[in-house]
Amino acid sequence: MTPVIAIHGGAGAISRADMSAEKEQEYQQALRRIVEAGQAVLAAGGSAMDAVTEAVRLLEDCPLFNAGHGAVLTSAATHELDASVMDGATLRTGAVAMVDCVRNPILAARRVMEQSKHVLFVGEGAVAFAREQGLELVDPSYFTTEARRQQLERVQREHPDAAVLDHDGQAIVSRGQPAPADPLDADRKFGTVGAVAVDARGNLAAATSTGGITNKQVGRVGDSPLIGAGCYANNRTCAISATGTGEMFIRMVAAYDVSARMEYLGESLAQAADCVVNKKLPTIDGKGGLIAVDAQGNVALPFNTEGMYRGYGRVGEDAVVAIYR
Ligand code: ASP
Repeated sequence: MTPVIAIHGGAGAISRADMSAEKEQEYQQALRRIVEAGQAVLAAGGSAMDAVTEAVRLLEDCPLFNAGHGAVLTSAATHELDASVMDGATLRTGAVAMVDCVRNPILAARRVMEQSKHVLFVGEGAVAFAREQGLELVDPSYFTTEARRQQLERVQREHPDAAVLDHDGQAIVSRGQPAPADPLDADRKFGTVGAVAVDARGNLAAATSTGGITNKQVGRVGDSPLIGAGCYANNRTCAISATGTGEMFIRMVAAYDVSARMEYLGESLAQAADCVVNKKLPTIDGKGGLIAVDAQGNVALPFNTEGMYRGYGRVGEDAVVAIYR
């Protein structure tokens, strides 16, 4: 079994025309560096869980992506971060939602899985748990970048009622109103992050972390911390991390649906992932994509948007990274 890791940094209307060569290179370098870090964990005999946790921790620390430092802002210009992990060997899982001062929400999610008898902690209780666990806490301003502040101001000026999927103005979750025809701005090129891996023992793991969607109502939680929606892993089938319009991924139970199609219908990873992303989600206007690996080390990275920041690497091979189709 050759271990493999795949990562994503969000999907959406990433317009090639609006992306400068330097910016594109910055993203590609960040994705490559983080895939390689995950490959190194696996090459050293690390578990799939260790590899996905480390990859997502690095993605959270990178200001290019909508998780941790660089996370998007709520309508009240605050941060509410969500994260989850799942271990495919044991079906153990941990998640946090609406945390505003835990530097790496993914580490908190992992501690929930390993050190508590519960699965999901939210808000103040999640922060209290992280503090008890000795995790690093930061002032909420640590997460805010100037680009995020400008993004929120623009969305509030142009579409005060809408909550906007990072980097895709068309994928607005707007109280039932039709989405505007044009992407809101050209520089939304950030996104929710995630990683999936299979290790040398054939164990699968998944991790997802996000700041949510720009201008989201305070208290809104998306798919990222919800097991089965934005994150799922099961050694019998696959490991999945999703990105996109969270409400639709919750309604479709998207991550679990890929696994269930494999288990009940005998579909391949590629067939099941393609069906959920390109056939089922579009029926409820679900936009985004997911990354997936199965127990045989197959990788699928489908998305129904213009682009998805993504990459994967098998141990002993070069990392592959891509943004557009
Ligand atoms: N799925 C995330 C959410 O709705 C957003 C994203 O993928 O960028 O919270």
